[in-house]
Amino acid sequence: MKIYNTLSKQKEEFIPIEEGKVRMYVCGPTVYNLIHIGNARPMIVFDTVRRYMEYKGMEVNYVSNFTDVDDKIIKAAIAEGVDASVISERYIEECKKDMRALNVKEATTHPKATEEIQGMLDMIQTLIQKGHAYVAADGTVYFRTRSFKEYGKLSHKNLDDLQGGNRSLLVSGEDQKEDSLDFVLWKPKKEGEPAWCSPWCEGRPGWHIECSVMSKKYLGEEIDIHAGGEDLVFPHHENEIAQSEAANGKIFARYWMHNAFLNIDNKKMSKSLGNFFTVRDIAAKYDLQVLRFFMLSAHYRSQLNFSADLMEAAKNSLERVLTAAERLQGLVKTAQEQAMSGEETEKLAVAKSYMDKYAAAMEDDFNTADAISALFELVKFANTSVDANSSAAFVKEIYDEFANMADILGIILEKKAEVLDEEVEALIQARQDARKAKDFAKADEIRNQLLEMGIILEDTREGVKWKRA
Ligand code: AMP
Ligand code: ZN
Repeated sequence: MKIYNTLSKQKEEFIPIEEGKVRMYVCGPTVYNLIHIGNARPMIVFDTVRRYMEYKGMEVNYVSNFTDVDDKIIKAAIAEGVDASVISERYIEECKKDMRALNVKEATTHPKATEEIQGMLDMIQTLIQKGHAYVAADGTVYFRTRSFKEYGKLSHKNLDDLQGGNRSLLVSGEDQKEDSLDFVLWKPKKEGEPAWCSPWCEGRPGWHIECSVMSKKYLGEEIDIHAGGEDLVFPHHENEIAQSEAANGKIFARYWMHNAFLNIDNKKMSKSLGNFFTVRDIAAKYDLQVLRFFMLSAHYRSQLNFSADLMEAAKNSLERVLTAAERLQGLVKTAQEQAMSGEETEKLAVAKSYMDKYAAAMEDDFNTADAISALFELVKFANTSVDANSSAAFVKEIYDEFANMADILGIILEKKAEVLDEEVEALIQARQDARKAKDFAKADEIRNQLLEMGIILEDTREGVKWKRA
């Protein structure tokens, strides 16, 4: 399996530290409002990476944080006149709802920055002791960037270019830094802000130290994969490397993966420009599986443009997949219980070659665009080579190929969520009650509602019977 490593700017063979096990950290969102569809891209693509690794039998320890202390959260809290934790807890819950609707698996651990302060104090202390950090007069702790000789190795930036003489005294605190490249590890509180006690001042952590600490606590000092959107390469991930490697004396992460950006109508999507959609906006119009399928239709390192037309195209493509799957599901139930014929055995080899193609695409730095092409070849094959005369064994094998491909992409093949028996019974009871009260309009309305859910009612002498359409 090959992974493009931002560190080496090359595709490299993936060799985990411990055979069969993967330690993976994905930078999560800052929770101050609903996530937008750009935030959903890393969630979907790295969930797919995880799913493929699990399909191959690897055990993935997947950690993704919530940044729940930050300027934007504090600003939102002040605007609403509530505690910052009210804002962050609310949007963590909302984010989890979106993730579920996108069929993003729950992480092994979803740490929150505010619950990991002690680890941050410890790492900052270590950095001070080792001479990699210093305390300024007002209690701010800075990382001494030039003390970490490899600074710039991820973003391929040169320290002197970075310096660039852009020292600005307009930026608060800039005058107390030893060097303009130094960045904050801990900062003093301002009035009304959440704060924790520390040896340096009452205050709160800088953003970068959070991830270094949460990654270390849940995955250890050395991990296999660290991932996030490409905007995080510099300075966030560069600073994480500097902190972790300076503190632990070990390589922090072996492979660095970054997704490219999602644009809107060929322009950068940003909150300040107002040209963004939340995942919730999309959910009002589409099943979120369509959004997931749309995201995976491009390779994760290619920029992806979001537009109404492309979403419609994704919807139609997904529909073709689901319709083919549904047909196979039907055939599985009715197919003849007989051994596979010689012709079927030959055809099965062709079907399996599509899975091989699919796997080869995923092995090549998770090329989901090519994997989806292989899935469409299987769709075409299933539509033309499987029918009511096929043996049950053959139909089942083809369906299993389908299910594997869909599952790795995180696509659920059942077209609609299964309607639960209890839901049906409750509606039938409500219809009976309406009839008793001679509210026939309501009774008819419920019958129609059930029909839309694919439930057919039959009024018999023994009472109401129902079946699925
Ligand atoms: P944030 O909440 O801004 O820290 O972002 C959470 C994650 O979403 C990070 O991995 C970002 O890189 C990623 N992200 C933000 N905007 C976009 C976008 N337009 N396209 C792709 N990824 C994005
Ligand atoms: Zn991070």
